Amino acid sequence: MNAGNKATVTPLRPKRPCPECGKPSARDTYPFCSTRCKNVDLNRWLSGAYVIPARDDEDETDGDAPNKD
Ligand SMILES: [Zn+2]
Repeated sequence: MNAGNKATVTPLRPKRPCPECGKPSARDTYPFCSTRCKNVDLNRWLSGAYVIPARDDEDETDGDAPNKD
């Protein structure tokens, strides 16, 4: 017997824009739109983890910059 004939409603997931470029995300690279954006984000994250914010009270010393042309 067919008990409970429920209509299976699949809720539409709101499409999330790619956090990198704002394009609609792809399923494969969710929540990014492409592998590229995914890598960009990953790289930024990785580099950000390694970058130590240098806080030296150094003014921009522009003057003796070797100018090769
Ligand atoms: Zn993107």
